[in-house]
Amino acid sequence: MASINLNTVVKRYGKTEVVHGINLDIAHNEFVVLVGPSGCGKSTTLRMIAGLEDISGGEIRIGDVLVNDLPPRKRNISMVFQNYALYPHMSVRENLGFGLKIAKRPPDEIVRRVDEAADILGLTELMERTPAELSGGQRQRVAMGRAIVRQPGAFLFDEPLSNLDAKLRVQMRTEIKKLHQKVKTTVVYVTHDQVEAMTLADRIVVMKDGHIEQVGTPMEVFNHP
Ligand code: ADP
Ligand code: ADP
Repeated sequence: MASINLNTVVKRYGKTEVVHGINLDIAHNEFVVLVGPSGCGKSTTLRMIAGLEDISGGEIRIGDVLVNDLPPRKRNISMVFQNYALYPHMSVRENLGFGLKIAKRPPDEIVRRVDEAADILGLTELMERTPAELSGGQRQRVAMGRAIVRQPGAFLFDEPLSNLDAKLRVQMRTEIKKLHQKVKTTVVYVTHDQVEAMTLADRIVVMKDGHIEQVGTPMEVFNHP
């Protein structure tokens, strides 16, 4: 569980400023969705929280820790991408446990945490398959499983459903919502899909041209002219 706090966060690429000193407080266990047109800075903002981009100014705190200079693996977060890069030659079980193995966790702990994540995501029957033997939705679930296994304080999602077909997207939305209710964790989720934002968010953050334009519940943001 972790809160996330952005204090006048700026991002410049060379001389071009693309994020203009944004302020945002995300409570622990809150599900926040960043929306806005392509190029408005959603992905850059998420990547700065993740530590995948340096920040040009301001402060980012995760669970009260100033993370400006911390690498991604020390930020107590897990990120789920749209291209759920699974290891093709490994089984689902091995894919889920790989991060913990690299972190040198004891084998019995790995088994326990992998089984827990598999149970939460309904992957128990698929553990011995390889990614090639899974559907797109199942692969996305394994990608989320890999994030859950690490038991992070927060999950960051960058358009995780954009490579799925329409039917699967609807199904995965429901899964992600249920997951948040079960795992009780902070989520920051980037999408350009308003329906996705409506369904998932406790709070929606509307970005435009590198600013935060509006913050509110889905009702406040989408049901007012
Ligand atoms: P969004 O996720 O809302 O589509 P991005 O955060 O990807 O927007 O991009 C915000 C702006 O920053 C865009 O104008 C984009 O072209 C620019 N940008 C993103 N990454 C880079 C980069 N590595 N170098 C230069 N400009 C970038
Ligand atoms: P997304 O829509 O998910 O942000 P993009 O296709 O915009 O993805 O960007 C893909 C990659 O290219 C990202 O790593 C981003 O930082 C980089 N990028 C985006 N815009 C620019 C740009 N104007 N100059 C250099 N790199 C960029």
